[in-house]
Amino acid sequence: MNYQAPLNDIHFILHDVLKAPEQLQTLGCFSDIDADLIRQVTDEAGKFVSEQIAPLQSIGDTVGCQFKEGQVTTPPGFAAAYQAFWQSGWPALGCATEDGGQGLPTVLEAVLYEMLSGANHGWTMAPGLLHGAYECIKHHGSDALKAQYLEKVATGEWLATMCLTEPHAGSDLGLARTKALAQVDGSYLVSGTKIFISGGEHDLTTNIVHLVLARLPDAPDGPKGLSLFLAPKVLPDGSRNAVYCDRIEEKMGLHGSPTCVMRFDEAKAWLVGEPNRGLNAMFVMMNAARLHVGLQGIGLLEAAWQKADGYSKERRQMRAPGPRKSTQSADLIAEHPAMRRILDTQRAWVATGRVLAYQTALELDIAKHHPEASRRSQAQTWCSLVTPVLKSAWTEQAFAGSSECLQVFGGHGYVREWGIEQIVRDSRVTMIYEGTNEIQAIDLLVRKVMADGGAGLRSLLVSLVNDVAQASESMEGIALQNQSNELVRITEGLLESGKLNPELPFWVAGDYLRAFSLTLMAWAGLKIKMVPQDASSSNADNLLLEPPKALTRWVLPEFEMRCAIINSQLEACRALASAL
Ligand SMILES: Cc1cc2nc3c(=O)[nH]c(=O)nc-3n(C[C@H](O)[C@H](O)[C@H](O)COP(=O)(O)OP(=O)(O)OC[C@H]3O[C@@H](n4cnc5c(N)ncnc54)[C@H](O)[C@@H]3O)c2cc1C
Repeated sequence: MNYQAPLNDIHFILHDVLKAPEQLQTLGCFSDIDADLIRQVTDEAGKFVSEQIAPLQSIGDTVGCQFKEGQVTTPPGFAAAYQAFWQSGWPALGCATEDGGQGLPTVLEAVLYEMLSGANHGWTMAPGLLHGAYECIKHHGSDALKAQYLEKVATGEWLATMCLTEPHAGSDLGLARTKALAQVDGSYLVSGTKIFISGGEHDLTTNIVHLVLARLPDAPDGPKGLSLFLAPKVLPDGSRNAVYCDRIEEKMGLHGSPTCVMRFDEAKAWLVGEPNRGLNAMFVMMNAARLHVGLQGIGLLEAAWQKADGYSKERRQMRAPGPRKSTQSADLIAEHPAMRRILDTQRAWVATGRVLAYQTALELDIAKHHPEASRRSQAQTWCSLVTPVLKSAWTEQAFAGSSECLQVFGGHGYVREWGIEQIVRDSRVTMIYEGTNEIQAIDLLVRKVMADGGAGLRSLLVSLVNDVAQASESMEGIALQNQSNELVRITEGLLESGKLNPELPFWVAGDYLRAFSLTLMAWAGLKIKMVPQDASSSNADNLLLEPPKALTRWVLPEFEMRCAIINSQLEACRALASAL
């Protein structure tokens, strides 16, 4: 059973819950984007994904990428699907029209990548970094680089890589040793080894644009001594650059994506942005990539749920408790509460994740184009706080939830036939790349929430509570208000205790991120619940009822557990301080 684009559910979130067209119409540049256009593009994207990309999921895993003498061959069908993808204009969806793009809102790209990742995570790794590379070259590249590369990357005719990691420099990029030497013609020669480079070499496009972090000879040590360079596989004169793939990794999953060891052997390159400001230029790419990884989590969880849900409606075992459900001697797996709970829980995560991810995509456009500075700044706060949560919480759930979905199959899930074990293996890496989930949690709590004394967090929480003020008297409205108050209290406690024990926030950052994600989910669940049932334009199968119910019963109670862990640490810290 291949992944089917869940178009009804997606339309429901876009149109009924978020009212995306109305939000976009407040931005001058998207004033002509209406509900019909959004529906049309989403439907076409869903059709492409279901028909052309989803059928390659299994072959991507079983055949995988092959390496021979520096060349990488992608699994059968991958290259043809990629040609169809870029030639149909899908990579260019969110790029500016003057760069060969279609100038459509970011949220449509988010929907596309969520569906692609659910259908075939391995294949989607190839174009996954394109938009980030486009933004990076657009904002930091020289005019000459833009003339040479921007349109090729915007349209996806050439794919791009992000070359950060080195054998001894993973999370700590400041340790990177790759060197760049200036040449008289204004170019540079880059030398060094980068590892784990997704799509470093392949047969999907005729050229590959590598964005590489390297160090100039006089650069200071650490992250502030890194510069960003663009080194193409094929140089503008048509000759092959000195960039070589030495190996591809044997991995737990994601076999459809070549993870390459790349050797830069005095490769010709050009500076992107200012010297020693490479991380700053690269952050444009990394931020875009983080939202994409959150979308991967949502897409993968949807794919796992689809498989488990389908199976649970066919397989019968034992009698379920309660009144007899059928005349057969055994009931459907779907009717056993333990299985129903697994299925409904994943659906709640997917539905609320979509609300948050699509709203983040909308906020990205609002941050750029809204006429009022205060609204732009509010949107920036949203993106900065919610992006690490999406990256971390939804990738963790993609792995944990797909493993639960595997459980629905019993032993049949552990064997290859049904394809659910592939999703469990493929999804695991999303917790690691683009900044590990631990780094995301620290980024959220220490670098974002605590850095401004909790001001950004408080204003975001106030806006969430106000947004659903109509439902403030409901059980869920009161619960959201309580969660929000508790999160503020904990934040204040951490700000206070952090002065006594600066290590404390680092111990509990993961719990804090989780508590924050559960507060965001409470808001998202309420948004879904507030859609009047008869007003739903998309006929989403029970989406109005099941996810909010499962959210309240099985997901949100974790909030109290996370707060209890943090509070116990805060109390211990205070007790220690008063004993001194
Ligand atoms: C399939 C795959 C594809 C990838 N694609 C790319 C790519 O295209 N480009 C690229 O440049 N890289 C890529 N990576 C590399 C990836 O981004 C790194 O693996 C990741 O950044 C972690 O680095 P590391 O593996 O060296 O782990 P380490 O940094 O050594 O971390 C080990 C553990 O320590 C924890 N840790 C480290 N520092 C801290 C800290 N300060 N606080 C708390 N915990 C900490 C980490 O969370 C982790 O759990 C890819 C990796 C994989 C597996």
